[in-house]
Amino acid sequence: MPISTTNPATGETLQTFEALGAEEIEERLERARTAFEEYRTTGSAERAELLHRAADLLEKERDDIARTLTTEMGKPVTAARAEAAKCVKAMRWYADHAGELLADEHPSAADVEDSGGSTAYVRYRPLGPVLAVMPWNFPLWQVIRFAAPALMAGNTGLLKHASNVPRTALYLEDLFRRAGYPRGCFQTLLIGSDAVEGVLRDDRVAAATLTGSEPAGRSVASVAGDEIKKTVLELGGSDPYLVLPSADVVRAAEVAVTARTQNNGQSCIAAKRFIVHREVYEEFARLFVDGMKALRVGDPMDESTQVGPLAGERGRADLEELVADARERGATVLCGGRRPAAHPAGWFYEPTVLADVTPGMRVHREETFGPVATLYRAADLEEAIAVANDTPFGLSSNVWTRDREEQDRCVRDLRAGGVYFNGMTASHPAMPFGGIKRSGYGRELSGHGIREFCNVTTIWHGTPPDVPTAE
Ligand code: NAP
Repeated sequence: MPISTTNPATGETLQTFEALGAEEIEERLERARTAFEEYRTTGSAERAELLHRAADLLEKERDDIARTLTTEMGKPVTAARAEAAKCVKAMRWYADHAGELLADEHPSAADVEDSGGSTAYVRYRPLGPVLAVMPWNFPLWQVIRFAAPALMAGNTGLLKHASNVPRTALYLEDLFRRAGYPRGCFQTLLIGSDAVEGVLRDDRVAAATLTGSEPAGRSVASVAGDEIKKTVLELGGSDPYLVLPSADVVRAAEVAVTARTQNNGQSCIAAKRFIVHREVYEEFARLFVDGMKALRVGDPMDESTQVGPLAGERGRADLEELVADARERGATVLCGGRRPAAHPAGWFYEPTVLADVTPGMRVHREETFGPVATLYRAADLEEAIAVANDTPFGLSSNVWTRDREEQDRCVRDLRAGGVYFNGMTASHPAMPFGGIKRSGYGRELSGHGIREFCNVTTIWHGTPPDVPTAE
């Protein structure tokens, strides 16, 4: 895949970049290592000051970088600005909280004595340069979600961004440099995916995190496994969205439209499978389809656009194949199911709802990475949960019910990294984010995220012989 900026709204390639050669990669790896040796000795106050400075810069440059995001991957410019603002918030959160999240942990005195020691504690120390292989769908957020905690923990970062967002990738390196981070603390590697293995196998790289598709995750995890290096994987999702009889159905349908189409439908945590209790199915289906039809599809630079183009031609073709397969096997297209006639250039696709979906269809098990929803009718909660869990993925889940017993049942039985009631899944710096099954492993954000790339170190002191004991 060429490293280039191609506008998805027009299909026009605006700039192409040369991938780094072996020597340039070597230089950067060495820089990451030497930078780590210095940076790891800094304290959390110093690190926080740097991260706050980067957050302030990003806040000031929000509108410009938002236009870059929209140009490179097609999200509505309003959503791009919101993404930048979310990054600023997370950076400040980690700058303010990392000290306490990584504070030494002291076991009880009795437990220390039991181990035959006088004092003992746990210290979170950094690991070293961490390679981040990142996707294009939230080109700023995915990187910041890794970089803010990794840098606060004292690691250095090497970013291999998706090949279609090189301007954003270079902006990020420049942002950290201008914020005052020592050279080498955060570097962008403009490389193709074929060069990832070599970087990951290099002894100077301590660990890796990958957000992206299952094949990419499998490939990085197997190389890392071979090298015995820690990884975090944030992969695909096909989140269920359950609507039960006690729900506010009007609100559930309204939120469903946003949950399915945010980021032009290309979000791992987008609700993708809508599983509705038969008592409220007709009402929900009508409201949901009306909402999907009413969306303004168009130029993502236009402030009023709600759904822009898909990020790539291949992505749209994949989506079209999934819809064609469902149609052939008997699904009903309640709306959409085609390219919008009004936008012949670029990679647009109409917001689509498919009903009468059965397990034999590819959409039942595969991720629809675009504005296509599948609708299921469930006889009761039991069946709704069974359909929700009938997926290889386990990222998050959404449930609309006001019934406490049903809520408890969902918390117990839904197999996913999150259960969100009466609202849609969203990430927050203070809450862990990640999945199970084919959605990956490990967690980002919160204390769980920052500790993923730490050396959890036991520090133990024996009773010094010159210290008199109590007796
Ligand atoms: P992708 O094709 O897997 O690409 C993601 C990153 O991996 C890119 O930097 C890509 O580089 C690289 N890559 C691809 N194949 C690789 C390989 N064999 N070895 C090493 N690196 C490789 O995914 P995408 O199309 O950009 O993103 C969509 C997917 O990401 C969806 O499945 C979505 O659900 C998932 N996602 C998950 C989360 C989450 O938090 N769980 C968040 C966002 C997206 P190139 O661009 O150079 O190919």
